[in-house]
Amino acid sequence: MRLTLLGTADARQVPVYGCQCPACLAAMADHRLRRLPCSALIECGDQRWLIDSGLTDLAERFPPRTLSGILQTHYHADHAQGLLHLRWGQGLIIPIHGPKDPEGLSDLYKHPGILDFSQPFDAFETREFGSLTVTALPLLHSKPTLGYLLQGEGRGVAYLTDTVGLPDATRDYLQRQPLDVLVLDCSMPPQPQAPRNHNDLNLALEIIEQLQPGKAVLTHIGHTLDAWLMEHEDELPEQVVIARDGMQV
Ligand SMILES: [Zn+2]
Ligand SMILES: [Zn+2]
Ligand SMILES: [Zn+2]
Repeated sequence: MRLTLLGTADARQVPVYGCQCPACLAAMADHRLRRLPCSALIECGDQRWLIDSGLTDLAERFPPRTLSGILQTHYHADHAQGLLHLRWGQGLIIPIHGPKDPEGLSDLYKHPGILDFSQPFDAFETREFGSLTVTALPLLHSKPTLGYLLQGEGRGVAYLTDTVGLPDATRDYLQRQPLDVLVLDCSMPPQPQAPRNHNDLNLALEIIEQLQPGKAVLTHIGHTLDAWLMEHEDELPEQVVIARDGMQV
C-alpha cells in the first residue's frame, strides 16, 4: 500500500497570491516549497483511488481509466474544484464516494456528467475495494466531512482532514486500530484561542498523543504555519513530520 501526498496546502495554497511573508517568498523562489490543494493518491494492489479532487489539472494527471474512483472528504472548493472540469469527460463513469452532503459543490449534483455521486458513505461504514479496505470516519468541520481509515497489505493509514479536534466516536474507533501512519490536518501554528474548523499545532499534537501512530504527517498547511516552522521545525516530536507535495508514505 502506498500513499502519495499530491497537495498539502490549506485553502489559500502556498505561496498565497500577493503575500510577501518569508514562507511565501521562499516558496516563490523554490518550487519544492510550494503547496497545492490538499489531496492524495492511495494505491494498493490493483486499486488506485484519489483522495480529494482540488487539483485543477486532474484530466492531465490521470488519463481515462487510470483511477478506480475518488474518495471525497468533503465538498469545500479546495478539495473538490477539480471535479467541475473532470465531469465533462465522456466514455467512462468515475465513482465519487464521499459524505452525505445535500449541497455538494456548486452545480455538481445537478450536472454530474461522468461523475457518480450515488453511493455516499454512512458514518463508520467500511467498503472493500479489492485488497484495499476503506472506513469512513466523521470529522468536525464547517461542512459534512469524512476522514478515511485505509487498510491493506498489513498496513493501516488514517487520513484526517479537514477537522478541528476529533468527534469522540472517531477518536475511540481509531484508538482500537493499529495505525502505522496518521495524516492529519494542521493548518496553523499554535493559536492563543481555540481554533475553529481546523487544527492548530497544539490540537494536532494532542490528537497524535491520543492515537499513538507509528508516524504522524501534518498536512493542510497554511503559510503562517510554514513561516512559524522556519524557526521552530526542530521543536516537533520525533515521530511528527511536515508533509511536502509529492511525499510518499
Ligand atoms: Zn481544506
Ligand atoms: Zn505568506
Ligand atoms: Zn474544508
